[in-house]
Amino acid sequence: MRTDNERIQSFKELWKKNRGEDLTDAQALEYSDNLLGFYRALLDVHMRIERWKERLVNEPKGFPVPSTGTYSCIICHHHMKGDEGWFDQFGIKCHPCQKAVNDGVIPGTIATDRESWYSSDDLKEKFGWHHTTLAKKVRTGELKAREIRSDEHFWHFVFLKEENPNLTTEPTPVPNT
Ligand SMILES: [Zn+2]
Repeated sequence: MRTDNERIQSFKELWKKNRGEDLTDAQALEYSDNLLGFYRALLDVHMRIERWKERLVNEPKGFPVPSTGTYSCIICHHHMKGDEGWFDQFGIKCHPCQKAVNDGVIPGTIATDRESWYSSDDLKEKFGWHHTTLAKKVRTGELKAREIRSDEHFWHFVFLKEENPNLTTEPTPVPNT
């Protein structure tokens, strides 16, 4: 293990090399502590997910996310608290997205293959299509959407690239609203 002083000195050298600035010892200590804290938090998350993966051996359908901390759904990014989420081989999902996977509305693999589909936000960014435009294109069949619902209400659209080949081959049009 390195001493604090060695850590401070090497952090100052790194900072100088990358940022061209001199740090005081106090700054170097503070910044490197922050960085260590950040990596420890990442490691905590990683270890927790690894433990959950082990649980899947005995609980192959998954289980409610233990009620500590906050999580966001890997598909719709909905923020969840407590035991709102469900964890399975595809990661953490909110209740509507999990139900959509279970019911076959969306393939579970979209949770792990983000390149295989577009969200409404993706299409808004790529083509400038706002929600009403999207809804119209879905209604007219111009876009094929997998529609995730929550208790009969609209929740989230998933546009699979393989079902919407035009989206990947068309040149990007001028955004309209
Ligand atoms: Zn979700």
